[in-house]
Amino acid sequence: MIYLDNAATTRLTEPVLEVMLPFLTSEYANPSAAYGSARRAGSAVERAREQCAALIAAEPGEIVFTGSGTESDNWVLRSALLLTGKRRIVTTKIEHHAILRCCEQLEREGAAVTYLDPDPEGIVSPESVREALTDDTALVSVMTANNEIGSIQPIREIGGICRERGVLFHTDAVQAYGHIPLDVGEMNVDFLSASAHKLHGPKGAGLLYIRKGIALPPLLFGGAQEDGRRAGTSNTAGIAGFGKAAEMAGEGMAEKSVRITALRDILVRRILKEIPGSSLNGHPVKRLPGNVNVSFAGISGSELLTLLDGQGICASTGAACSSSSGKPSHVLTAVGKSRTRANGAIRLSLSDETTREEVDAAFRALKESVSALSMLN
Ligand SMILES: *Cc1c(COP(=O)(O)O)cnc(C)c1O
Repeated sequence: MIYLDNAATTRLTEPVLEVMLPFLTSEYANPSAAYGSARRAGSAVERAREQCAALIAAEPGEIVFTGSGTESDNWVLRSALLLTGKRRIVTTKIEHHAILRCCEQLEREGAAVTYLDPDPEGIVSPESVREALTDDTALVSVMTANNEIGSIQPIREIGGICRERGVLFHTDAVQAYGHIPLDVGEMNVDFLSASAHKLHGPKGAGLLYIRKGIALPPLLFGGAQEDGRRAGTSNTAGIAGFGKAAEMAGEGMAEKSVRITALRDILVRRILKEIPGSSLNGHPVKRLPGNVNVSFAGISGSELLTLLDGQGICASTGAACSSSSGKPSHVLTAVGKSRTRANGAIRLSLSDETTREEVDAAFRALKESVSALSMLN
């Protein structure tokens, strides 16, 4: 099998599993309890908080563990309205559904949402954010990097504008966290979402960075876990694994990124040069190291995936969550691609475990499959 769907989820690595295992077996105590084994579980959670904070130059006290990136996104959108008493959210048309579907629900509940257009390469301009800000804006939410086309947004500039205007700023960094350098101070963000399973950690462990001094109302009420900010018995194993995954992602990030980017560019260049009718979606350089998103003229992306699957290659049409709906991608539509070009798109997402041999084999399979499908048309 050649796994090229790392934007959907990643392999849980052995060192991460190792850190998690004790908390799934012998060390099962509730970390909130008052005996020795509970204290050990509690310190594992606090150690993970330090590791996760260090990756974005935050303080441990600014990290709250959640059940997923989706929960973190929903929490900040809903609670920023409550915190400020204002009714508008400014976001973009290319956000993950964890933002967009939540915004739609908040609109049904009476909120107002402005959806900004990206440029044709998938970049949101800071000026468009400035123009969208109104006196009733509670929160701006712009993703750090897009999950379908990998485009990296000018977060620092957008954050600077929000800060200047006194508006809270959130970024969904689920695709970026652990993959590109992030510093919450430099980014001018008040809130940041991340998720363990996108960086070789376990599924079901997320975090929300909340800048010190902001009393974001909770989404979940119950026990006093996470300093009263997120109720529910802590997922000790998941959180410990998240911490280890964050630590490992930080080690040699620059070298890993250079290597993955080189593989990505080899794959993109060969596709564009040798496969007729191919085109790249997203920005040529302002994109995540591992993201390849290409369209093939006159071909159905989902049929292409079926042929690739037959050859043991795992790829995606884009958002894992919408590939079954049959609708063209909301991201490709928002960057102005025609329906046919959007339907002919596939995403190949590489990781630090991807090899040159795998990339070459995937390219050969891709070229043959596209040619086979073109012959049928
Ligand atoms: C995967 C993803 C999410 C959702 O995170 P989960 O932990 O799977 O809920 C949110 N936003 C982006 C950009 C993602 O890629």
